[in-house]
Amino acid sequence: MDRETACEVYRRLLAHYPIVGGRRSFIHFDTPFESLILTILSAQTTDRAVNAIRDDLFACYPTPEALACAEPEEVEPLIRGIGLYRSKARYIVGAARMLVSDFGGRVPGTIEELQSLPGVGRKTANIVLSHAFGINVGIAVDTHVRRVSKRIGFTASTDPDVIERDLMALFPEEAWKNINYLLISFGREICTARNPKHERCCIADLCQCYQDLRREEG
Ligand code: SF4
Repeated sequence: MDRETACEVYRRLLAHYPIVGGRRSFIHFDTPFESLILTILSAQTTDRAVNAIRDDLFACYPTPEALACAEPEEVEPLIRGIGLYRSKARYIVGAARMLVSDFGGRVPGTIEELQSLPGVGRKTANIVLSHAFGINVGIAVDTHVRRVSKRIGFTASTDPDVIERDLMALFPEEAWKNINYLLISFGREICTARNPKHERCCIADLCQCYQDLRREEG
């Protein structure tokens, strides 16, 4: 897809999913620490489940120092409602300990430093940088972004790193902060994994997948 068409897709999605008050996060957080911990917990689980355990978790462990002093087994009951909670308990306690030991108790503000924390890959680092610090050096590629990008024709790849590079090449830098939010919103409502709602889609005329379907149908 050329940049002009991609930007038209972007304009239509932005009109459909307006960003109110700069809010692009599906997870409710107040501090960079909360953003980091909740984003680690959100892997392969729903945002609703993560938001549901938020208050209890931070009532017990409001700071990196408090969480660093906990044992993972003590944290597990508080996050039992989310997937893979045992390994995630180890990740968040390990991350808190590293924040205290290596970063003065603060969440670091570079993608390399964030990726050095347990449980933090490039996607998580991109999300925390963007949401907690307003720094956009990349685009977080999750399952919705991956599926929708391929269908629309933003990318031919299924590899998250390649997709991220393709998206960064297609869109101007000032749009990067919105792409993840727009594609997730769109992927949840319209371009769903099963039975995408082509008939309700505001970008069907620009969509590679839809054009291919119509061609096949003759
Ligand atoms: S036309 Fe269908 S496949 Fe293409 S973006 Fe819209 S919902 Fe997704």
